Amino acid sequence: MGKGIWTVYADIIVDISLEKLDKTYQYRIPEDLEKEAVIGARALVSFGKGSREITGYILDLSLEPKLAPEKIKPIKKILSGQTIIESELIRLAWWIRDTYGSTMNEALKTVLPVKQAVQAKEKKSVSLAVSREEALTLLAEFERKKNRARVRLLTELLEEGTMDYRFLTQKFAISPQTVKGLADRRIVHIEKETVYRNPVAKEVPGKEKAICLNEEQRRAAETIIDNMNRGIPGTYLLFGVTGSGKTEVYLSVIEQVIASGKQVIMLIPEIALTYQTVKRFYHRFGDRISILNSKMSKGERYDQYVRARQGEIDVMIGPRSALFTPFTRLGLIIMDEEHEGSYKSEQVPKYHARETAVERAGYCGASVLLGSATPSAESYYRAKQGEYTLLTLTKRAGAAQLPKVYVEDLREELKAKNYSIFSRRLKALIEDRLKKREQIMLFLNRRGYAGFVSCRECGHVMKCPHCDISLKYHQIGYVKGQGKLVCHYCGYEMPMVDTCPECGSKYIGTFGIGTQQAEEMVRKAFPGAVTLRMDTDTTSGKDKHEQILAAFAGHEADILIGTQMIVKGHDFPEVTLVGVLAADLSMYADDYRSGERTFQLLCQAAGRAGRGTRAGEVVIQTYHPEEYCIAAAASQDYISFIRQELSYRELMGYPPVSSLIALLVMSEVERYAVSFASFLADFVRKSCSEQEGVSCLGPSPAVLSKANDIYRQVVYVKGKKETLTWVKQKLEQAIRAAGRKEVTVQFDFDPINSY
Ligand code: ADP
Ligand code: ZN
Ligand code: ZN
Repeated sequence: MGKGIWTVYADIIVDISLEKLDKTYQYRIPEDLEKEAVIGARALVSFGKGSREITGYILDLSLEPKLAPEKIKPIKKILSGQTIIESELIRLAWWIRDTYGSTMNEALKTVLPVKQAVQAKEKKSVSLAVSREEALTLLAEFERKKNRARVRLLTELLEEGTMDYRFLTQKFAISPQTVKGLADRRIVHIEKETVYRNPVAKEVPGKEKAICLNEEQRRAAETIIDNMNRGIPGTYLLFGVTGSGKTEVYLSVIEQVIASGKQVIMLIPEIALTYQTVKRFYHRFGDRISILNSKMSKGERYDQYVRARQGEIDVMIGPRSALFTPFTRLGLIIMDEEHEGSYKSEQVPKYHARETAVERAGYCGASVLLGSATPSAESYYRAKQGEYTLLTLTKRAGAAQLPKVYVEDLREELKAKNYSIFSRRLKALIEDRLKKREQIMLFLNRRGYAGFVSCRECGHVMKCPHCDISLKYHQIGYVKGQGKLVCHYCGYEMPMVDTCPECGSKYIGTFGIGTQQAEEMVRKAFPGAVTLRMDTDTTSGKDKHEQILAAFAGHEADILIGTQMIVKGHDFPEVTLVGVLAADLSMYADDYRSGERTFQLLCQAAGRAGRGTRAGEVVIQTYHPEEYCIAAAASQDYISFIRQELSYRELMGYPPVSSLIALLVMSEVERYAVSFASFLADFVRKSCSEQEGVSCLGPSPAVLSKANDIYRQVVYVKGKKETLTWVKQKLEQAIRAAGRKEVTVQFDFDPINSY
């Protein structure tokens, strides 16, 4: 910006605790402050009638005055010195806005905690009111009566002494009625204290003895800490199979980071934020840890932010949003299960917590540690490019062994006239486990994956000739089979086929079985078995999810049937058989990540078998045993999988080798959505085509082509990351210039799901 040629104005916010984060005031930047007046900087300004001096933050810069220029006051001073945490978060919001596309206000709301009144809370704790001997006698009685919740409660109290009431009832699926019941019988005490701010139980820290790390674990932890001590922060990818001791590495690194006076953010998928996980951290670090979760009210969350800002906490554990914990001495961000889709926000701004963590860490010299048994293609690719440091754990730490995996070809079952959903091997193994009273998990990765068309005889799948992803079936009218096949990337269409173009069979059509149907079939085939089902229908109630898992863990059922929810993170030592009913369902979701997702799901599913002392077996049923994502999952060979996956991404120009932006164009009027989407696609083709490697797909109707009476069209743009950021800015200008109020456009950078 040439000195003295333009006057630059700053939008300044004077109170970031307000809900109205867009309430800014414009000030002029004097020439001598131009260099220092950057986004996020703290500025001293005079405000209001009495012109009192207050500090605010610069949210945005512009060349256009919003009032008559002579009425705009100048900034008095830029306050430098230590970076204040709010400045850092505002800068991060600006980066999010710029990278993912949103308004500054939306980005700020994501990043800054907004002040909320917190109700004075009562802390309640639960302890035993009887002697240990009496408690043990009662425990035996409850066990005999199969009173699982009571057994869990007494077992925990015997082990822990006093426990926090909310912790027990919210994280351990013990209902308030159960606790009250035992209190009425004077078996337990419920004690009350006022003003309670820490959601983590007052337990005795230091109970978990530090495990002596093995050679590989030690090397991983040392690499991170040594670099940190030498003042070299970095991003590390810790790749280790489930049970290889990643969590022990985290604990060891956290311990050393805290010892050096720094703070740690530990991100985990919400679904893995279980009692067991938190307890493990609590035992190691005591009440210097805190948690954030979606069950907390806004006020409770705000309270945690305040505690974090005041330095009362060393480790914040939580899902995606915990990334914005206002720690002033941040030293490390850990992201467990970094491949999980839940790290990507589904609301605008559609940020990815992984990239955002790396950005935030960069501002304050913190390190980032990503951990996974099946790293995302993005992270593995960056590690291979030398951007991240790869640390590997090759062995399982405990006694558990890798399960034996069978791949059953469903085409062969059809040839053998077996028309049931169970292959002969799976049926035999289920019967065997039922006889031995061991537990079984049956997994149907159905949700969101239906709609592709495949041949039951030869396994052929109808794919887009341009995008190499499966075509989706769209019914026209009410006659089955009278539809068309559509590609949701490029809009390619063809009429529905009635015979297989590969083998001529007429057994070609969409896949269709849900978890409920699967459960009915299980009951029919194995009448003696007790079943539990877990999917979005059965888990809609509060805590339902944990109740079902707790019931299954308590062996209240022999077979748990469910969607991908059942394969994430939970330990069931008595499960010795896992069946994947139709691996193909996730393989032919209509987006480029379906192979990766299938591999991850199958590995996780396989990881559920044989977590205890008995060896486990896994049966994967598929029409495509030769597909690399299935073959590699069967042999639990991540490296072979990722090599092939990355060469496919490279060939097709998909992320992480290239980048992809989805433009979701929405309007209440269908033709507005269609015409504006076409306008944007044409705009990219005309105005951005001189940029190397930029290509545009679509427009096409979104998979969800109409939601809440809003029509949805989608346009994809492919290209190198830096170029796409430029294309996005051009598009934002074009959208603003077009000024179409009845059309909304959302950006999604490297989308996780197809639209
Ligand atoms: P991951 O996070 O990779 O799934 P964990 O850290 O949870 O693995 O470790 C799996 C199991 O192995 C845990 O029960 C843990 O206590 C145990 N474990 C981990 N590291 C060691 C070690 N060095 N020596 C003995 N046991 C270990
Ligand atoms: Zn066929
Ligand atoms: Zn296509």
